[in-house]
Amino acid sequence: MSKYSCKKTPPPHTCSVSFGVGVRQKRAKSVHPVFLPFSGCPMHCVYCAQDRQTGTSLYPIPALIEEHRKALAALAPCAPGQTRELAFYGGTFTALPDGERRSCLGLLDELRASARITHARCSTRPDALSPGILEELEAHGIDLIELGIQSFDSAALAASRRGYDAEAAVQACRTVQEAGFGLGIQLLPGMPGSSPEVFIKDVEQALALRPSCLRFYPCLVPAGTVLARWLEEGRYRPWSLEDTVAVLGRALALAWEAGVPVIRLSVAPEPAFDAAVLAGPRHPALGALIQAEALLLSAGRAAERLGRPPLALLLPRACQGYMYGERGALKERWAGLGLAPERIFFTEKPQAELLA
Ligand code: SF4
Repeated sequence: MSKYSCKKTPPPHTCSVSFGVGVRQKRAKSVHPVFLPFSGCPMHCVYCAQDRQTGTSLYPIPALIEEHRKALAALAPCAPGQTRELAFYGGTFTALPDGERRSCLGLLDELRASARITHARCSTRPDALSPGILEELEAHGIDLIELGIQSFDSAALAASRRGYDAEAAVQACRTVQEAGFGLGIQLLPGMPGSSPEVFIKDVEQALALRPSCLRFYPCLVPAGTVLARWLEEGRYRPWSLEDTVAVLGRALALAWEAGVPVIRLSVAPEPAFDAAVLAGPRHPALGALIQAEALLLSAGRAAERLGRPPLALLLPRACQGYMYGERGALKERWAGLGLAPERIFFTEKPQAELLA
């Protein structure tokens, strides 16, 4: 049987150019998140509404740990080869009070010992790392640390009152990697003081550090934050949806080219958070719109490298659902590349290939 599922087959060709359309992060198959909103944070950042974003109210950590202990005890231990990850998200894990951090790591120890958990990660700020804490995390089996870098631009970091500069952000990434952890970098396109140009430079800097994964969180304005006040005072203007899709599409294409997984393209849907968003690029299919833009840009670059009009494009089947954007809005731009629908073929291969 042909590896092409539709009846049509690609035409004979004499040359081709391959390009990446996203890689999967090698991580546990199932992830059990433990949200610790604002825990350990030195202040509430101007744009942050972690409690609403994670759908978790501010909870005493011992009670939260107990709740997760019960939920995880109900799961079967992982069979050989099976993986499950515990992820501490939503606060500044490395700055938790000692007792609270030890309770979290104690839970991780128990779950690892009973094979209910095989991997673990936590998220933190770049200015909350110390050699002693990193040793502790390693001893308890944390594999990956995600840093809420937000930007590598000192002016944007200052405008957003992050409390560290570009040099400290880069150094924190290196510290995590040199200590032997996988590194995740979280960026905040559209944050105060940033611009599309600054964000693209942020992505280039992040990719140069060869992280295990990236997350992009387009900046939104939740009610009750300093950013909401700045919006009202006219001191802050969020990026439009169109600009966000265009710029994050470029950024995602760069990450695909570098082979670095981008594991988030927008804040996860959460009813309480969505109800609190006053402004900013929110769309239920934002991730798909960004992927569609990135795919089109990547195909355009491949066409330039090909140097001849393309005869056909082979795409991984996963692209089929999003490639034309919302209500087919990108069809014309695809046609402009010489790639009308009849020239596009879906395959089981992980890479795209342009033929001429
Ligand atoms: S952005 Fe990060 S450091 Fe700032 S308040 Fe939110 S969770 Fe804490």
